[in-house]
Amino acid sequence: MKTLNGRELAAAIRAQAGAEAAAGPQPRLAVVVATADEASLWYVRSIAKAAAGVGIACDVVDLGPDASPDQIGETLSRLSADPNVHGLMLQTPLPAGASAQELAIAIDPRKDVDGANPLSLGRLAAGLPAFAPATAAAVLALLDHYEVELRGRRAVVVGRSTVVGKPLAHLLLDRHATVTVAHSRTRDLASVTVTADVLVAAVGRAGLIGADHVAPGAVVIDVGTNPTDDGGLTGDVDFEAVSHVAGALTPVPGGVGPVTTALLLRHTARAANLP
Ligand code: NAP
Repeated sequence: MKTLNGRELAAAIRAQAGAEAAAGPQPRLAVVVATADEASLWYVRSIAKAAAGVGIACDVVDLGPDASPDQIGETLSRLSADPNVHGLMLQTPLPAGASAQELAIAIDPRKDVDGANPLSLGRLAAGLPAFAPATAAAVLALLDHYEVELRGRRAVVVGRSTVVGKPLAHLLLDRHATVTVAHSRTRDLASVTVTADVLVAAVGRAGLIGADHVAPGAVVIDVGTNPTDDGGLTGDVDFEAVSHVAGALTPVPGGVGPVTTALLLRHTARAANLP
């Protein structure tokens, strides 16, 4: 079984982002935050640190956990109109009553480096150029890096969120995979996932995918990040059990996560260089 290492690939993508950032005016990413959630704030700090490492400026606009939807929307509109901001993202979770999808409409699609505006998802579905959500793009980047054939192969995506499962299904379809999307109402999940040549778990339930869910030799990508009691992270896939069946598998942490952050930076560098 091959472990698909995301850290190596992330370093290569960050190097590309750095080279692209150096080729034009300094790119600037703005991250709008309205939460006190520690894991989320940690993630934003890690983006800012990675951005600094590749010469991308990163402004964290922290509105606090009591921000109103109007305040968040106005902030996104202002940053969308600011010519000095090239990439713009809205961090979740948001305060009760605020909908990320509704608010993301205010993000200019040309700055929508995390593919959050429903217009970006629509363009992706229509096969038009758009920024894909960085996590969905990270799954494709890992599959490409490890030269996993997609054309004509059966891909099963478990999870249908607008940030991961749905955009990923479109990206895989574009690459000529035969795509099935499973979710919480799917009956007998294992009977579906076991048909996959490429299986992606994007659910948020530790250990949901066991050895019985995986066909021998399948490539398994674990998007799930579930906190463990000891303060660490674990995926949706039971790594130990599945490693005896799968042909290749991403670890958590160290798989999709680092590639996601690196791609956000590359998207920002590209947004800054858009004609
Ligand atoms: P989400 O919005 O909660 O969506 C979860 C999806 O899983 C839903 O479509 C849900 O189905 C489905 N689901 C729930 N229980 C299921 C079950 N028992 N069997 C099959 N499907 C089930 O989550 P998300 O935002 O897509 O995130 C998914 C996971 O990825 C989380 O662990 C998150 O932390 C992680 N994540 C990681 C990264 C990264 O960079 N590594 C980035 C983003 C997210 P329904 O639609 O029917 O409810």
